[in-house]
Amino acid sequence: MGYDNVVTTTAWSPGPGCHGGCGVKLYIKNGKVVKVEGDENHPFSQGRACPRLLALTQYMYHPDRITYPLKRVGARGEGKFERITWDEALDTVEEKFSNIKAEYGPESVLFCQGTGRDIGGPISFLAYSYGSPNWIQLGLAGHSCYTPRLGAMMATHGDYAVLDAGQFSEKRYADPEYEVPKVIIIWGQNPMPGCPDGFFGHWIVDCMKRGSKLIVVDPRWTWFASRSEKFLQIRPGTDGALAMGMINVIISEDLYDQEFVKNWTEGFDDLKRRAAEYPPQKVAAITWIPEADIIAAARLYASAKPAAIQWGVPIDKCPEGSTVAQAIAHLWCLTGNLDVPGGNVIARPAYGVTTYPFSTQEMHELYGEEFVRRLNEKRIGAKEFAMVRNFRGWAQPDLAVKQMLTGDPYPIKACWIQTSNVLGGQAADTALHYEALKKMEFVVVADLFHNPTTMAVADIVLPVASIAEKESFRSWWVPLQVIVPAVEVGECRSDWEINLELAKRFNPELAKRYGSVKDLINDRLKPCGLTYDELKAQGGWIMPPENSASRPYRRYEKGLLRPDGKPGFRTPTGKVEFASKSYEEWGLDSLPYYSEPPESEVRTPEVYKKYPLVMVTGRRSSVYFHSEHRMIPWLRECDPYPIVEIHPSVAEQVGIDDGEWVVIENDRGSIKRKAKVTPIVHPKVISVPHGWWLPEEDGCEPNLFGIWDINCNKLVHIGPGAKSGYGGGAYKTALVRVKKANGAVE
Ligand code: SF4
Repeated sequence: MGYDNVVTTTAWSPGPGCHGGCGVKLYIKNGKVVKVEGDENHPFSQGRACPRLLALTQYMYHPDRITYPLKRVGARGEGKFERITWDEALDTVEEKFSNIKAEYGPESVLFCQGTGRDIGGPISFLAYSYGSPNWIQLGLAGHSCYTPRLGAMMATHGDYAVLDAGQFSEKRYADPEYEVPKVIIIWGQNPMPGCPDGFFGHWIVDCMKRGSKLIVVDPRWTWFASRSEKFLQIRPGTDGALAMGMINVIISEDLYDQEFVKNWTEGFDDLKRRAAEYPPQKVAAITWIPEADIIAAARLYASAKPAAIQWGVPIDKCPEGSTVAQAIAHLWCLTGNLDVPGGNVIARPAYGVTTYPFSTQEMHELYGEEFVRRLNEKRIGAKEFAMVRNFRGWAQPDLAVKQMLTGDPYPIKACWIQTSNVLGGQAADTALHYEALKKMEFVVVADLFHNPTTMAVADIVLPVASIAEKESFRSWWVPLQVIVPAVEVGECRSDWEINLELAKRFNPELAKRYGSVKDLINDRLKPCGLTYDELKAQGGWIMPPENSASRPYRRYEKGLLRPDGKPGFRTPTGKVEFASKSYEEWGLDSLPYYSEPPESEVRTPEVYKKYPLVMVTGRRSSVYFHSEHRMIPWLRECDPYPIVEIHPSVAEQVGIDDGEWVVIENDRGSIKRKAKVTPIVHPKVISVPHGWWLPEEDGCEPNLFGIWDINCNKLVHIGPGAKSGYGGGAYKTALVRVKKANGAVE
């Protein structure tokens, strides 16, 4: 087949959609994308492509895709929508939001997003231009994805750090400076389908081929666990105890990097005292991991140089996620594996380019000093939680849903929901969020498909462009990349286009600054010295320059990390802080510690007696990203059913055969799942993939695409479970029981 054109671009947003940023080639014929491939010249993905990408054409041209703006014409939940023009849609939003602002104040509108990708820029831009401080991941209990880890690393060494697979150099593994990690700990993650935060599972396979040995910490036997030197099958939610136990072994056996600790850290003696409270024998009893395995894993990791840790969201979801992440970050600091080749390297965006303003100075320029001052006065959770106040601009989700219901301390009247299927996706205690959303006077949802959230509560639905239809850029670490539009589909618009248009209506000053989305992108790209078109013309991506803050290694020795240009780290003391000054100032324990899950065999034995299984949600699928893609035929064929993984001993106890439908229940309700009886899960744990709804079923109320029957988040309670306001969403630790379902469900 001949093609009219091949467009090279970046995957980073819905369709295929994950955090990855793969290089992509789109083959165009007669104004349509007809074939998709990975771009072999892209240094990050090197031509690899996941099933979601390969199914992009089925996603883009799906008959159910929303391709023009809609307004609700029946009652909420009836599923009756009517086509309207973009002008009518935006005029309606402007009018309703302006009225709410005049009557209740701008903070009465929540600006809600789901998983990260490229939405943080457009949505915070719109929220702040309108004047609301409440930019939020509504429903994400404990805000327990990524933010607790970020907070812990900022507090410990002033920057985000990630396993080094050579991704900061275009030469990758062939770069003479690069070294392969001798040992990799994969902690709470299955990085092959997981595809998290600009890190790919295939990079670990690349390292394994070059000699890396693995330690895997997980309640499930994963592909990586089956190839590991040590598999630590952990009790969900006890990762903090394991990290402290490993620190105990490393310090007591003098396995730490004495030179690095002496020259570049502070608080070692405090950490030593705290770690002494976690001898391996005690940790073994907490974690279900044999004492000998804890000791052996600590020795294997600490005696290999370099060694690195790759972790996942279960860390954030631990009770007190930000202290668990702190303990794990201490492991790479203690062993001198920070910012060295093959260790955990500091990850800053190439050239310092970000999709949205981080610095106070930038915020002042864009939105004015008065608004920035008011952010912390009105942002939900800022008064209660020092980390919400002092770190990142998010409102606290558990408090937000309560406030939506009570109106205390001020009413919440409307929600702008952009690329988030709250009810079919991230919301813990789904019924509570349903009730809260129903109370809203006005709800706008910007998305690509109808889903339980649009059907239940949307008053206006705006059609969003996929990666193949938008002009944007990606700036998560490296490379700095452009997203290039190849075609148009219906009247879909990019998130940036929608939000800039509305932002200008709410804040006319912005109209003077940014005539178009390209003006805005060019403004953000300034630090790299290229415009969007120039970057596109030179291949679409650029790596960070040598000897810069965004290129490893050992930047702390060269004075590249601190604002004052002195050697050291971007922390209050300029050192790696084992006892965090920031945590101390924020009224938190400066040292890491273990905290028992809110529901567990130890903390709530009476609940455990009734519900003896720990439900771990969130297992990733190679073909889905969170609640997306269930309607795509090629993908659904690979992973057709909402399943539950159950150990054979549990199946035998309750009389369940493989493939039978079962009921999973606790005091919060019950759901049904198809049993996959497998020895890969721990006998005291069941694994329940999240994000399930059934697009083939009736979307109107009460069914809402079947969410009340299959959505596991119904059984997860909200928090906040953490003193910091970050972490402790019980997505990995809710207690449940399983029984045979009555009658056929299929
Ligand atoms: S791995 Fe993620 S970024 Fe890469 S193609 Fe697949 S969905 Fe897109």
